[in-house]
Amino acid sequence: NNEEVAAKAAASDADSGAPTIFDKIISKEIPSNIVYEDDKVLAFRDINPQAPVHVLIIPKLRDGLTELGKAEARHGEILGQLLYAAKIVAEKEGIVEGFRVVINSGASACQSVYHLHLHVLGGRQMKWPPG
Ligand code: IMP
Repeated sequence: NNEEVAAKAAASDADSGAPTIFDKIISKEIPSNIVYEDDKVLAFRDINPQAPVHVLIIPKLRDGLTELGKAEARHGEILGQLLYAAKIVAEKEGIVEGFRVVINSGASACQSVYHLHLHVLGGRQMKWPPG
């Protein structure tokens, strides 16, 4: 139907592979509140936090990972590094006993920045199911 067609068009526009705001965060062209960094990943506070702790973790090299739904076998190593970084961040933030990791992939999941990122959320009682 028309709604589906419009949603698909919006999604393909959004995931154009164009640079995103996260490139400017990686290059430090725009400031961010960095929580953890190594040679492969960068973790910084979300500008619009949805919980007392809300940190985004991104690969420094996007390498085609605009969204999880575009992942290929060659991305396996960085995907593992991102997930392990979530645990390091949770530990640093004092929430390792209870936290949530979210990846929004694609327009229907409300992804808004097309550079793969993990949300690490905690510091309050999380609810299930999410919206
Ligand atoms: P998404 O909706 O899963 O794509 O998440 C994108 C996230 O990036 C949102 O939670 C935004 O609040 C966050 N965000 C967008 N721009 C910035 C920024 O400049 N600094 C930090 N977080 C940002």
